[in-house]
Amino acid sequence: MRDRVADVQSEQPIILRDVPSIRAWRAERPGSVGFVPTMGALHDGHATLIEQAKAENERVVVSVFVNPLQFDQASDLDRYPRDLDSDVALCRGLGVDAVFAPGVGDLYPHEPVVTLSAGSLGTTLEGASRPGHFDGMLTVVSKLLNLAQPDRVYFGRKDAQQLVIVRMMVEDLNLPVDVRAVPTVRDVDGVALSSRNRRLTAAQREAATAIPLALDAASASAASGASASNVRAAALARLTTSSLVVDDVELVSPTSLEPVPDDHVGEALLVIAVFAGEIRLIDNAVVGLGAVRPA
Ligand code: AMP
Repeated sequence: MRDRVADVQSEQPIILRDVPSIRAWRAERPGSVGFVPTMGALHDGHATLIEQAKAENERVVVSVFVNPLQFDQASDLDRYPRDLDSDVALCRGLGVDAVFAPGVGDLYPHEPVVTLSAGSLGTTLEGASRPGHFDGMLTVVSKLLNLAQPDRVYFGRKDAQQLVIVRMMVEDLNLPVDVRAVPTVRDVDGVALSSRNRRLTAAQREAATAIPLALDAASASAASGASASNVRAAALARLTTSSLVVDDVELVSPTSLEPVPDDHVGEALLVIAVFAGEIRLIDNAVVGLGAVRPA
């Protein structure tokens, strides 16, 4: 990780632990606010979102909250890495103004009765493997947006389906916020940074390099004019030679998330979900089918 703690600037960030404190913080700050929602265990991927938010807003608030509503497996929730001290240190090094780190009881004083649904966008791809995940994600993101009231909110392209669904929520509910998408940040070997990578063994981490290689193989196949099914096959072929267990590989529309037809001309989103042991890793890339170069 880059040394982000070196240039400590001040007593910032302010740590906000509950709903009244973030409401008060926001009410006292009339200028533009950029908001970066996270589940903590921050890495350079998150840092890139924060840097973009810093560049585009007068103030930046980062939330650190492991949202129980978006975990369908209790064991996954329990094992999710938590390290608020180092998250705050990283935020301090980046000049973040406030870290909102509420407890579960602060955001959910009772089991929520009224929640959001991502509809059909939430039951496909990742949502098919993780029932309720995107509904829980939307519910917490909408709560966090209501509390932080940002001008801009930052999401990574690493979680492509999440980004599509959040954009749809903002459109469908007329939320007054600009959704900004940030490209996926990768390690030197191409593996996308993820808080879950901390749980990989050395052998699993090595095996994970098949994921970016599969994305590259698919992009090269698309560039040579291959059909959607052959592009998908190119990615699958690369993954199946590794020790990873393939959960899902699909080529879908980047907006509707519907599978693209075999003779599709235009951009398509290649999504990959694999298991390295018990750990599920996801990644994606936009490819251009029918001799269309991706933007
Ligand atoms: P998480 O803490 O995993 O919920 O992620 C918080 C935000 O950081 C989400 O918008 C993610 O898409 C984004 N993010 C996570 N990993 C990366 C990455 N490697 N590159 C870019 N954005 C990322």
